[in-house]
Amino acid sequence: MSLLVVGSLALDTVKTPFGEVEDALGGAAVYFAAAASYFSLVNLVGVVGDDFDDGLLQFLKQRNTDLRGVEKRNGKTFRWGGVYHSDLNSRDTTFTHLNVFESFQPKIPDEYRDSEYLFLANIGPELQLDVFNQIDKPKLVALDTMNYWIDGSLNALQEVLAKVDVLIINDSEAKQLAGESNLVTGARKIHQMGPKVLIIKKGEHGALMVFEDMSFFHAPAYPLEVINDPTGAGDTFAGGFMGYLASSGSISNDSFKRALIYGSTMASFCVEQFSVQRLVDLSETEIRDRFNAFWSMTQFERA
Ligand code: AMP
Repeated sequence: MSLLVVGSLALDTVKTPFGEVEDALGGAAVYFAAAASYFSLVNLVGVVGDDFDDGLLQFLKQRNTDLRGVEKRNGKTFRWGGVYHSDLNSRDTTFTHLNVFESFQPKIPDEYRDSEYLFLANIGPELQLDVFNQIDKPKLVALDTMNYWIDGSLNALQEVLAKVDVLIINDSEAKQLAGESNLVTGARKIHQMGPKVLIIKKGEHGALMVFEDMSFFHAPAYPLEVINDPTGAGDTFAGGFMGYLASSGSISNDSFKRALIYGSTMASFCVEQFSVQRLVDLSETEIRDRFNAFWSMTQFERA
């Protein structure tokens, strides 16, 4: 089944206590595709500048990612910089140079309009709505957003939220969106805005999924000894989640639960290395073994 992602392609300059990279491949749509393409065909829509080296996306091409939706424009590629604090749980954005991304108006190629699965990565909600309206009849739509849009474009965000099935958001943003300090009450309010499934990312504490009937499923984060760079973990999570769902063709609650674990699995690889390095050539065995490790980590006998 086809999976479409629309979002940023970037060159990131990132510093953590364990090293630094300059102009390394990043962007929400790139991290998403890097993970999702292990499971499903991915159609990628975004924009880069004429300074962008196409060879950087070769690994995605090799996994059958369709890059016809990546537009190359005159000007510079979107650049983002971040510095992480010592515990890696928080970071400061050092710069955001939107460059060609500033005037990004996603045009969905005709060949992608029948995509059945759609991920609207973190871009302005007006653009997310515009993309949604360009797709024929998606089976499942998921959306990511951030505090910037909750603060500045709440009406547009609510308009697009009314149309999506799954919202993937971090815990502080969920509280902000709901206007609630309690996540459970907040989840109930967010369901009323539209999404039937809410996924709350909690960084090193894993991810909580809340279904429409207010039942829960929780995935821990995989306990890692080596974490070099958390950048893109959220988008990688979303890629594993949506990629698995697209490959399974099912949107049952059980499939959502497996998808949450595949998302967590892919995110755990992402943070081991800088940029997308760890996501370039994972083996099926590595992914399966870590998925199984999640399973054994969360099983117990009740008696
Ligand atoms: P995350 O660590 O999940 O917040 O994702 C970080 C990625 O998002 C980096 O690769 C950045 O290039 C990209 N990014 C940062 N700021 C923005 C923005 N305003 N719009 C879109 N993508 C962004």
